[in-house]
Amino acid sequence: MTLVAIDGPAGSGKSTVARAVADRLGLDYLDTGAMYRSVAFAALRRGIDPADAEPTAKLARGVEIDVDRDHVTVDGVDASIEIRGSEVTRAVSAVAANPQVRAELVRRQRKWAADHHGQGVVEGRDIGSVVFPDADVKIYLTASGQTRAERRSKEALDPDYENIAADITRRDHVDSTRSSSPLLAADDAVVLDTTGMDISQVVDAVLAHLPGRPGPPTSTPDIAPVAGPGRSGVKRGADRVRGRVDYHRWQVWMYRFVRVVAAGFCRSFWRVTVEGGENVPASGAFILSPVHRSNIDTPLVAVVTRRPWLRFMGKDSMFKYRFADWFFTAMGGFPVHRGMPDRVALRTCERLLRSGQPVVVFPEGTRQSGPVVGHLFEGPAYLATKCQVPIVPVGIGGSERAMPKQARGIRPVKVHIVVGSPIPPPANTQSGRVPRKVVHELTGVLQSRLQEVFDRAQVRAGA
Ligand code: C5P
Repeated sequence: MTLVAIDGPAGSGKSTVARAVADRLGLDYLDTGAMYRSVAFAALRRGIDPADAEPTAKLARGVEIDVDRDHVTVDGVDASIEIRGSEVTRAVSAVAANPQVRAELVRRQRKWAADHHGQGVVEGRDIGSVVFPDADVKIYLTASGQTRAERRSKEALDPDYENIAADITRRDHVDSTRSSSPLLAADDAVVLDTTGMDISQVVDAVLAHLPGRPGPPTSTPDIAPVAGPGRSGVKRGADRVRGRVDYHRWQVWMYRFVRVVAAGFCRSFWRVTVEGGENVPASGAFILSPVHRSNIDTPLVAVVTRRPWLRFMGKDSMFKYRFADWFFTAMGGFPVHRGMPDRVALRTCERLLRSGQPVVVFPEGTRQSGPVVGHLFEGPAYLATKCQVPIVPVGIGGSERAMPKQARGIRPVKVHIVVGSPIPPPANTQSGRVPRKVVHELTGVLQSRLQEVFDRAQVRAGA
């Protein structure tokens, strides 16, 4: 089952890209903007003021709308052309800001997906954030204001560039400031700036994010280019980097700076020594799996490798406060909800690994105590098999004494870190499915390798 959600502002290329993606995948496609336009069209025809909330909501609940790939029929009348006209375009924002209309159309959109057995490509403004928060892939397309106006004036019935540019600015403003489901990228959406890209490039980039496909093309594996937030013209969610595959160069520089400071402190205060640092792959994706005994394990892990950028999965409480959320997110962290399977976090890991980024996952989940490696979660083994990346086990000796679980302060004791050789992923099955048995076995291997490096680290730390 594949449900692809494509969101973005007017003229970002959504419709063309969504159609092409649907064609390439052999799936049906739903243009939800056409549904809002249909309600606006019906209101105008019946002489209802689209800004009049109650009558418009009543109309939305009763109107018959049939949107297929090439035609839009409203109450049995073919409205494919009229719904794109300037009158409807002017009226549609008020209709879309009406929460009752939204509730009705979201209900219909979910029914469409259920009738399609959960498969399809759905395009709109709130598809990944509200309508299908569990979509397999969430794409948020943006482009510079100028590019969007140029694209729209080429395809519009009214090719006046100035008019179109003004209309796009107005609609962007209304769509992103309305209180009901404003236009914003879902936290776990992949944000693609399509300025300067042609359709086939965008389609390839979208397809590369589908589960089971090779990762998106990046010019260098370590530093993926990203659109500056100012250029995209999209604020709010799109500016957030949490869980996003792309990241900004300033983040890498900030990460490096913080890493250097942290490394200096760790070396002088805890006399940290690292053994097996050469086992960390110099390029490409991998899963760094350390034992977890203390809150200081996360900065310690960043010290074992000079790779300029690691992504960290961290407990959600770390992201609870505003500054902490900003800081950890900027440093490449993303939250995981503990105590239940977190599919969003797992998918985020998957996307990051497929884009060539190393991800740190503590396989014991939360902090444990004592010299024995505890129960391991199967997430790292599943991800390694699914994305065909190695797991690098890391033993950290001494961190529990340096800052025990209940302690507030830190103690100057010796810490030694041992990085084990990478555990290669088991060969993928032809279907791309990940058998439980394989994941289970790999978790067993990780458990014993982790214990080996942990034993050694504890001995060398004098623990
Ligand atoms: O995509 P299109 O420009 O045809 O959408 C028309 C209008 O419908 C948008 O300006 C927006 O106000 C609204 N819309 C929405 N939510 C969606 C799809 C469209 O609010 N999922």
